[in-house]
Amino acid sequence: MTEPIIPSINLTLCNRCTQCVSGCPEQSLVMTERGPEFIKPITCTYCGDCEGLCPTGAIRAPLWVTWDAHV
Ligand code: SF4
Ligand code: SF4
Repeated sequence: MTEPIIPSINLTLCNRCTQCVSGCPEQSLVMTERGPEFIKPITCTYCGDCEGLCPTGAIRAPLWVTWDAHV
């Protein structure tokens, strides 16, 4: 089974503001003593809302492009 693609969270940058938790449309995150954690990673649609809401850049959902090389 492949792992769900989820944003990365840098807890050392996190100020525990809870914006990402309350702003996630899928309720994929919960706030813990350590900071936000994925409670239901399979429900994450990788929409990027949490990244946009985070005031410290602690949660990141980078986009990437892949090329198919036909050689
Ligand atoms: S990328 Fe979207 S669905 Fe996934 S945790 Fe962030 S806000 Fe929720
Ligand atoms: S929005 Fe950013 S700073 Fe706030 S709890 Fe989430 S990861 Fe931490």
